[in-house]
Amino acid sequence: MKKQTIAPEVDMMVVNAPLIANHAKAGNFVVMRLHEKGERIPLTIADSNKDAGTITLLFQKTGKTTEELGMLNSGDEIRDIAGPLGHPTPVKKYGHCVLVGGGIGVATLYPILKALKARNNKVTAILGARTKELLVWEENFREFSNEVLVATDDGSYGRKGLVTDALKDIIDHRSVALVIAVGPIRMMQAVSELTRPYGIKTMVSLNPIMVEGTGMCGACRVNVAGKTRFACIEGPEFDGHEVDFNGLGSRLVFYKKEEEVSLKRFKRKCKK
Ligand code: NAD
Repeated sequence: MKKQTIAPEVDMMVVNAPLIANHAKAGNFVVMRLHEKGERIPLTIADSNKDAGTITLLFQKTGKTTEELGMLNSGDEIRDIAGPLGHPTPVKKYGHCVLVGGGIGVATLYPILKALKARNNKVTAILGARTKELLVWEENFREFSNEVLVATDDGSYGRKGLVTDALKDIIDHRSVALVIAVGPIRMMQAVSELTRPYGIKTMVSLNPIMVEGTGMCGACRVNVAGKTRFACIEGPEFDGHEVDFNGLGSRLVFYKKEEEVSLKRFKRKCKK
């Protein structure tokens, strides 16, 4: 495994995993475990290279396990990684597609961008971050997209504002066949509400709590069009106009207290 920090609290890892790299498709993710008794965490496969036998993962150090993952050094091993999991993104010739990425959500969009371009779609990418230093992979997006628009909340780079401001300008003036949004829940919800009255097909990639990632535990259940769906085997992408984002948001904070205690305990242990 090779690792580098690419933004504050965001690391990129290139992992030697030839079997996964050989089968990975846009939209797939892996579930990894650092120890035999470690927490299982899902991470999107942000890139893969069949020839090198590697997969690339981006992660934000927000909890105990991602902090621990961030402490690994290049050359270290990961206990186990299962994948590729999840439904690949359905890709065909749509026309003009707009990819909307918030923060580290751009990692999920990168393989989708490459797959859409391989099918001759025109792709506009909108990348949003709170500040310039939190923006990741802009160059990677510039390499494949027809157009890249950047928005920062504080105006330190690109246009000042949210990704939805940039998206509104586009859909008000140009025809759009498909929008795919990945990022914080409130962002994906806002994008879906924005496109709804225009009737633009809008897909979002959901990130509920997952445990084993193969449809057995039910931890990742989400409500879509009034039905319970398992994001790990039926998603992670769903029609944004049908997702119950409020339900997803409340399930995501269900273990917040335990997660905070676990992180504090881990940091205390590291100081000793
Ligand atoms: P953030 O809070 O800094 O937001 C990033 C950008 O999203 C903002 O700059 C803004 O342009 C936009 N945004 C945020 N809230 C919005 C709103 N209410 N309306 C319109 N636009 C809004 O994001 P972050 O701290 O980098 O966190 C990234 C998030 O992405 C995390 O919550 C992480 O769990 C999530 N994520 C999701 C997936 C997935 O598959 N869904 C993958 C990776 C990361």
